[in-house]
Amino acid sequence: MKIAFLDMKAPYLELKKELDEAYFRFMNSGWYVLGEEVDSFEREFAEYCGTAFCAGVSNGLDALCLGLEAGGIKAGDEVIVPSNTYIATWLAVSQLGAVPVPVEPESNGFNIDPSLIENAITSKTRAIIPVHLYGVPADMDRIMEIAAKYDLFVLEDNAQSQGTYYKGRRTGSLGHAAAISFYPGKNLGAYGEAGGVTTDSPELADQIKVLRNYGSRQKYYNEVKGYNRRIDGLQAAFLSVKLRVLDEWNKRRTKIANKYITGLSGIEGIVLPEVPEYADPVWHQFIIRSNSRDYLQKRLVGLGVQTMIHYPIPPHLSGAYQDLSFTAGDFPLAERIANEVLSLPIGPHMPEEDCEYVISSIRSLCC
Ligand SMILES: *Cc1c(COP(=O)(O)O)cnc(C)c1O
Repeated sequence: MKIAFLDMKAPYLELKKELDEAYFRFMNSGWYVLGEEVDSFEREFAEYCGTAFCAGVSNGLDALCLGLEAGGIKAGDEVIVPSNTYIATWLAVSQLGAVPVPVEPESNGFNIDPSLIENAITSKTRAIIPVHLYGVPADMDRIMEIAAKYDLFVLEDNAQSQGTYYKGRRTGSLGHAAAISFYPGKNLGAYGEAGGVTTDSPELADQIKVLRNYGSRQKYYNEVKGYNRRIDGLQAAFLSVKLRVLDEWNKRRTKIANKYITGLSGIEGIVLPEVPEYADPVWHQFIIRSNSRDYLQKRLVGLGVQTMIHYPIPPHLSGAYQDLSFTAGDFPLAERIANEVLSLPIGPHMPEEDCEYVISSIRSLCC
């Protein structure tokens, strides 16, 4: 048996006809930067999230940067970020010359703990970036309450949670704006780089569309110092096709996740993910925790099961953030998570037998 962590080709094969059609339509259009494919994908994705607007941009990191810049974040400002996240969340803050201020996750989950946010707020704090990690939403109502009290801008990092519901509302519609990544491995993935910002604010959407396009509305009339951070038109055409199946594919992920939860329950030393009662997750990753994670991962390789670690080093201990002078022990929950988490194979095209094989493999190693 060989179980790949994620089958990247199966989604293409299932949608081959529609994706190939989109490719030929795009090539025959004779128009390759912004334009109709981008406009219609932006409309469709905004409607999907339940927001008024979406601005398509080059990738998820640029979406975070543009979202923060449009939200008025400047050099020297402090931005609250999760201590437990993919480093992109922090890097966006740093790119603007602002300072990431980490806050630890909830003790029984992976997302930022709202009850610890107020302690981290200073006179320089301007924004919060909650991350809906692994497909599970952060507790946004409590975060928005704190943001209102201190007049802070909230940018969701929605890269891992396309389609997730929080109390019946989709992530991406809960903050003042939300950054999304359409990196190929995400639940809604392109065939190259792509990202976007969703928001209800016409001003924010407009500003991001100007910033992504050299700071111009009209070619060669540059109102502000912008960037070239436009979403690629061909990727937008592909994403329109894949958006139509996103809910169905998320349901397939949920089926696999439920199989894991049933099959792996009651194993000593294995901690299963807890789903908060307010959440309807989309299982971007299925994460188990173990004190002997490295041993487990190695033995699973021997049985043909490929797993991943999201993420082995928390941002504050990474080489990239040596300048902030954090040391081991500063954010113990994030550090412990980095030492214990193991991502099991999951995806909309994973056969049930493969899931059963992963379960029996783990059982054979742990009992
Ligand atoms: C993938 C990801 C990003 C960055 O997206 P890219 O498109 O790779 O730039 C940001 N934040 C989180 C939580 C992610 O998982």
